[in-house]
Amino acid sequence: MDAIEKLLNSVLPEKKELIALLECDDGEVWEKLFGAARAVCEKHYGNKVFARGLIEFTSYCKNDCFYCGLRRSNSKAQRYRLSFGEILERCESGYALGFRTFVLQGGEDGYFDDESICRIVREIKRRCWGCAVTLSLGERPTDSFKAFFDAGADRYLLRHETVSARHYALLHPPEMSYAARIDCLYALKAIGFQTGCGFMVGTPFQTTEMLADELAFLTQFKPHMAGIGPFLPHRDTPFKDFGGGSVQTTLKMLALSRLLCPEILLPATTALGTAAAGGRERGILAGANVVMPNLSPASCREKYSIYDNKLNMGAESSEGLAELAARMKKIGRVLATCRGDSLVKN
Ligand code: SAM
Ligand code: SF4
Repeated sequence: MDAIEKLLNSVLPEKKELIALLECDDGEVWEKLFGAARAVCEKHYGNKVFARGLIEFTSYCKNDCFYCGLRRSNSKAQRYRLSFGEILERCESGYALGFRTFVLQGGEDGYFDDESICRIVREIKRRCWGCAVTLSLGERPTDSFKAFFDAGADRYLLRHETVSARHYALLHPPEMSYAARIDCLYALKAIGFQTGCGFMVGTPFQTTEMLADELAFLTQFKPHMAGIGPFLPHRDTPFKDFGGGSVQTTLKMLALSRLLCPEILLPATTALGTAAAGGRERGILAGANVVMPNLSPASCREKYSIYDNKLNMGAESSEGLAELAARMKKIGRVLATCRGDSLVKN
């Protein structure tokens, strides 16, 4: 079997085959693979694209990741926290619009201790009957994850950022470790969360070999979802002078992830939509099936600046749901606000 045949059968090719494929720029090859990824996605999830309401509830962060505009050393970052009432109000507004998944995302902010997160989760679940709550708050001790799960949180997103420990050390300060990140991912899965890992495409020092290893990691870890989007520079970070990740390489990685992990949930990320006009649609046509419109208060959106020019209005926002639905319809998809649980079994 050659690499393409293996992929069409959800078999992981050899590393050298994956590298050769990722380096191949033959449009016909990729149209075939994107088409196959779409077909696999449709087989499992139909023509639905799941919409999640994204609430960016704090822009404070104790970490100093070199790539991110929210890093603690960025004194120009505008910091805010949403109150308990504001978070609940956003969820209830989203619920009225039809959203049945809320993603609470933020920097690693100790102000929100375990009890306050649990209280927020419990209250969202009480007021928004039948919804799923996804947390994306970074690393915490296993006991904290367990408390969030017991409070009713359903899913947890924690991108591992890169599969290579050496590369991880080039993207983060020494107090952050690849091992700690991966330990959290295994802990989350063991607790019972629908667990999302993920990585950026095109971060400084990333190689094609690492991208091939990312695909092998996905087949081994078997996440319920994976956030895969291009790295985009932020002007007030140490990586400000690096170019952004390639849209085409991101699309290739989405398609190969879909083929190798047929039941995974794959967002067409805001970063992909920011990197190219129609980027999100192109992501869906390469096998993605989730979008995360911004449900944060409009006054905060500019402040949650992880990279330059991040989209947050129009079809990227909950107010633009009709526009988003129309865009999905144009590419033969139906925007679905239902829970949209992952079909991957724990
Ligand atoms: N603090 C939590 C964490 O790091 O897991 C959640 C929020 S963080 C902003 C969410 C994701 O944003 C990170 O996992 C990272 O992959 C992505 N991100 C940060 N800076 C980025 C950049 N410059 N370009 C693209 N994605 C970026
Ligand atoms: Fe903080 Fe997450 Fe940004 Fe790292 S990526 S600085 S942990 S918000």
